[in-house]
Amino acid sequence: MKTADYHLECLECGSTITDRYTNICPHGHDSLLRTVYKRKQIRQLPETGIFKYIDWLPVADALPQTAGPITYKSEQLGKVLGLNNLYIGFSGYWPERSVQMKTCTFKELEAAPTCQRLKETCDKILVVPSAGNTSRAFAEVSTRTGMPVVAVVPKSSVHRMWTTTEPEKHNSVFLISVDGDYSDAIALSQELVQQKGLIAEGGVKNVARRDGMGVVELEAAFFMHELPDHYFQAVGSGTGAIAAWEAFIRLIEDGRFGQNMPRIVIAQNLPFAPILSAWQDGRSEIIADTDMKNAEEAIKAMYADVLSTRNPPYSIQGGVYDMLMSTNGHVYGITNGECKEAEKLFESEEGIDLDPAASVSVAALIKAVDERFVEKTDKILLNITGGGYKRLNADYQMYRIKERVELKSSGQIALDEIETALNEFVDSYRNIMR
Ligand SMILES: *Cc1c(COP(=O)(O)O)cnc(C)c1O
Ligand SMILES: [Zn+2]
Repeated sequence: MKTADYHLECLECGSTITDRYTNICPHGHDSLLRTVYKRKQIRQLPETGIFKYIDWLPVADALPQTAGPITYKSEQLGKVLGLNNLYIGFSGYWPERSVQMKTCTFKELEAAPTCQRLKETCDKILVVPSAGNTSRAFAEVSTRTGMPVVAVVPKSSVHRMWTTTEPEKHNSVFLISVDGDYSDAIALSQELVQQKGLIAEGGVKNVARRDGMGVVELEAAFFMHELPDHYFQAVGSGTGAIAAWEAFIRLIEDGRFGQNMPRIVIAQNLPFAPILSAWQDGRSEIIADTDMKNAEEAIKAMYADVLSTRNPPYSIQGGVYDMLMSTNGHVYGITNGECKEAEKLFESEEGIDLDPAASVSVAALIKAVDERFVEKTDKILLNITGGGYKRLNADYQMYRIKERVELKSSGQIALDEIETALNEFVDSYRNIMR
């Protein structure tokens, strides 16, 4: 194995940290760690998929056959909106544009480098809680590579757990559904990782996740030959937008793509929009009673419920608030009606179906045009974070992953219910892992 050319750095104390799948500063700071790459000018290697940007991924080796996103210049939607320089970063399945991400969202960009980083630094099994799209992405990598993963999703999101790989290959995925929402899945995962042989994937704190998603911006920079003036993305946690910010920082340091930090414009789906609420109030902290009133009903009412993160990394050093402050950023709230209208427009103009979350970013761009927040000639990068499900369905069979455990409750009772089966799963991999 090659040695990786990077180390981690705590944004609070500046400590240099050797990566052992380290997600938290050893000095206990409430700060994100950031990857520092030896190579300051990034190469675009002649590989396909995301590992052509391996210079800026926290791994030494590539995973084979990993797809990547594309950037293209929009003709149709740009014309309708009166924008001369609208660029679309697309993560999903759209073979006509040579993009083959078969889980249909940018979560696939997080899963591949995370699994590889784990393999290189640690001998445990990942536990991944999610509202569906993240766990599906990890399940896809797992079924493709045979690397085991424990996925924890709310019952209401189990329908998102499918892969294009045959059910015979699903054995490496231990799927648990919980009766509750995304927060309940996170809570159970936190319990599970106390057990031997398991490790928390890490969410926003996992640098492989952020740097993996940053590939969208790297791809865009090479395509556009410069940084955009504005960057648009739908957010739940905001991890993707933090990743974009970090990629822009590195691209500015690179020196070949211009020196101006793009304005990062993020959008949440009303009525559940804690980041919007705190930001509009000028606060660097989210207050649950103010920013997440009636969270349960609000989440149920969302069109794009994958954006329903109750504990976004807003205040943490290097998190969403810092990102918005240092990019002169902006936050939009988007109604379900606006989502659906934007989705229809995008599909008819660009010719590909969208993940509901991606329609939130399109709606935000429409708002920004209406408000003249953006001008006709501005260079805009619209991150279409997911799409092409209908297109994928025309080419592939989508096989549902079966749950190993369905939990009706959480807490200690739940743990007892899982323990035996999960221990067996972990043991069955003990011999083949390092
Ligand atoms: C998860 C997700 C998002 C939001 O990403 P965050 O990093 O959680 O803000 C946006 N679009 C799609 C399709 C997603 O799956
Ligand atoms: Zn520190």
